[in-house]
Amino acid sequence: FYMIIAEGIRKKYGNKSALNGVSLKAEKGKITAILGPNGAGKTTLIRIILGLIFPDDGEVRILDEDPFKDKSIFKKIGYIQELPNLPPFLTGREVLEFSAKIKGVDKSEIPKLLEMVGMTENADKKIAKYSKGMIQRIAIAEAMLGNPEVLIMDEPNMGTDPVLITNFRNMVKNIAKDGRTVLMTSHEMEDVKKIADKVYFIFKGSVYFEGTVEDLIKRF
Ligand code: ADP
Ligand code: ADP
Repeated sequence: FYMIIAEGIRKKYGNKSALNGVSLKAEKGKITAILGPNGAGKTTLIRIILGLIFPDDGEVRILDEDPFKDKSIFKKIGYIQELPNLPPFLTGREVLEFSAKIKGVDKSEIPKLLEMVGMTENADKKIAKYSKGMIQRIAIAEAMLGNPEVLIMDEPNMGTDPVLITNFRNMVKNIAKDGRTVLMTSHEMEDVKKIADKVYFIFKGSVYFEGTVEDLIKRF
């Protein structure tokens, strides 16, 4: 039911506190958003959940495992970093083919994923020619290779094209509807209101508000 559980996470960089005891749960089939301004601790929390950095205190369960002990869960997680960095001299399709090879996923998944992110027509153009939104969509397709149960996105940035933004939101909603768990960060209240089911508003390393998106809309 809860695919991600973080309890009492604390993290300091040097003597500067980034997270002061944050707890979070992400439910299967739902979009959970971590909302907060720059420097709030969002990326630190995501990286701890992924097992990429150790917390000073607290516990994480993702897909019922401890990410620091069981690295094999990584195969069941799609992760999109903030500002995905893709090689500009490759095409979108080549990026996916390369990732499929690394992940041990069959290449035959690629056309379906390109379709899902609306990149079929642009798949054979070089990344250098893509807009921010297009790069983001290739990064999502890449993260979805192998049909991961959990999708984690750090500040997905579609650029400013309203059509792209709407398509992206619908796509993420469909991924959740499909029974996958989505955890994303954002600094945009409007964005979170339009997409999330559950919201954690983090400020200076602490949870300031936690609730459904309906509660968020009533409050802010
Ligand atoms: P957000 O993702 O919400 O912008 P971060 O988790 O990146 O927040 O950062 C939280 C705080 O921790 C910020 O004050 C940031 O400058 C600091 N921080 C993040 N990463 C490091 C690091 N590697 N070393 C030192 N301080 C860091
Ligand atoms: P985000 O907004 O996603 O947290 P940042 O721009 O804060 O991204 O961080 C980018 C990179 O720089 C990360 O690897 C983060 O750990 C590191 N970083 C952030 N703040 C600091 C800092 N004050 N000192 C050292 N490294 C930092």
